Amino acid sequence: MNAVLKQATETLKQYFGYEQFRQGQEWIISNVLDGKPTLGVMPTGGGKSICYQIPALLLPGITIVISPLISLMKDQVDALETAGIPAAYINSSLTYREAEKRMEAAANGAYKLLYLAPERLDSPEFFHTLKKLNISLFAVDEAHCISQWGHDFRPSYLRIARLINELPSRPVTLALTATATPSVRDDIRQSLSIFQENEYVAGFQRSNLSFQVVRGADKLQYLQHYIGTHKSESGIIYAATRKEVDQLHASLIKKGVRAGKYHGGLSDGERADQQDGFIKDNLSVMVATNAFGMGIDKSNVRFVLHYQLPKNMEGYYQEAGRAGRDGLESECILLYSPYDLQVQRFLIEKSISDTQRIRQETEKLQSMKDYCFVENCLQQYIQQYFGESGAAPCGKCSNCHDTREKVNITREAQMILSCMVRMERKFGKTVISQVLAGSANKKISSFGFHKLSTYGIMKDKPAKQIGHLIDYLTSEQFIGITGTQYPVLYVTEKGKDVLQGRQEIYKKAEKLSAAKKNDTKNSALFEELRKLRKEIADTAKVPPFVIFSDSTLLDMCTALPS
Ligand code: ADP
Ligand code: MG
Ligand code: ZN
Repeated sequence: MNAVLKQATETLKQYFGYEQFRQGQEWIISNVLDGKPTLGVMPTGGGKSICYQIPALLLPGITIVISPLISLMKDQVDALETAGIPAAYINSSLTYREAEKRMEAAANGAYKLLYLAPERLDSPEFFHTLKKLNISLFAVDEAHCISQWGHDFRPSYLRIARLINELPSRPVTLALTATATPSVRDDIRQSLSIFQENEYVAGFQRSNLSFQVVRGADKLQYLQHYIGTHKSESGIIYAATRKEVDQLHASLIKKGVRAGKYHGGLSDGERADQQDGFIKDNLSVMVATNAFGMGIDKSNVRFVLHYQLPKNMEGYYQEAGRAGRDGLESECILLYSPYDLQVQRFLIEKSISDTQRIRQETEKLQSMKDYCFVENCLQQYIQQYFGESGAAPCGKCSNCHDTREKVNITREAQMILSCMVRMERKFGKTVISQVLAGSANKKISSFGFHKLSTYGIMKDKPAKQIGHLIDYLTSEQFIGITGTQYPVLYVTEKGKDVLQGRQEIYKKAEKLSAAKKNDTKNSALFEELRKLRKEIADTAKVPPFVIFSDSTLLDMCTALPS
């Protein structure tokens, strides 16, 4: 260990009582002490604060910390002062006079760390006084707020780069975030002039978390059963709206659960009380909107249950990641319903005016939905989403535990994909499913789809089940989605390979399919299916799509627009 690092480790022990740095902290801190602008990406709870707090103690002058989490600033500063580190914060909770006093103290060298809300940088006057400080380190916490691709863009963050450039002596910059998507990382690096070699991305696997997706359940029943069997445990239930929080909270209280609630509609005092009750374990469960949890460091949260689909993976992983900070086994459960997906779509369209941003948010929502439909490891999916490749299956998520046998669904996939080709890529899941199921719906015939050769080729399945297959094919990128007004499906390159018999698809068998044994219509179709399978087996070398006995299909597939 070199001398600088040794000193850093001693400082860690002395002020924070920790024996050693975590993976990543060491790398980031050495880099910063070397004077290199650095980006550190670590999951929530990974220990990002230490990365600027230790250098702040070792460098001369003051460290500025930009953070959007006002509620967190006070806690952090209190904790630092308890540890004997002089620190202060300036945000909108202070009067003008108080803020001014703190700036004067800062100029006189009273603090090692000064936390600032980003909005401060909007004031030219403040900008000017900041320039008078002897700043050694400029730490940008929650740095994804710089990026329009992030899930929490703050225009004030864009001023940071200008401020740093205008400072009389250039401080070291350290950007920190839990959001690791490549586009967000690019934005941060570009905005703050950080070389790629000075970027550290920590492993995103949280090996003590088991992820679960529950589809098609009665959500309220599921929740009550779950809480009933996890009575002694601390957990968070996230719901999408205040109203939903109120309702769920009331239903749990009625069942005798010590539940608290938290959302933006409560007064500051009420919120503080509820949060305090939860942290002190007087309340076992917190029902909350996503307003809850930022900066809450409760280590023994055993489960985080999402009652509704979050709007993107970044938000989901941040919220779910509040489980198991103590390293003990914990569960992250997501209840999926198609209705909730519609609500999120609606919210995107209603709350955003810029069409490019609508597209971005819609894509993110789609990735969130895909998470609910993939069949491979969920932990792996998350890691891949955040740009980490080569992760092994976790062995404990609901997908890893799903022991249903995989069946070959290439034929069904070909039917779906060929039908989409016929319909010339203008439609969404519902219409495509209806055409395949041979629906008598007037809308279908008004488009002339009842005349297509693919009309009704899947009439052995209800349109809903076909819809599930489409969702699965989408999550595996055989089908792509465009369109901002409403989702429009198209066959991807990967999908074309399937059509041409170059790739087979396997899917876990649906629980439903074997159920209706006495249905004569079904058994006739099973027979038909067996025949078709045999035909394919007999003509093993012939691409499977010949089962449509449609010679033009091949031409159509090769002529697909790319
Ligand atoms: P983040 O900002 O990445 O979400 P925090 O900085 O809030 O995480 O740290 C999360 C928790 O980990 C805190 O309780 C912190 O004290 C603890 N922690 C940080 N570094 C270490 C370390 N080296 N050893 C033990 N605990 C640590
Ligand atoms: Mg943090
Ligand atoms: Zn897994």
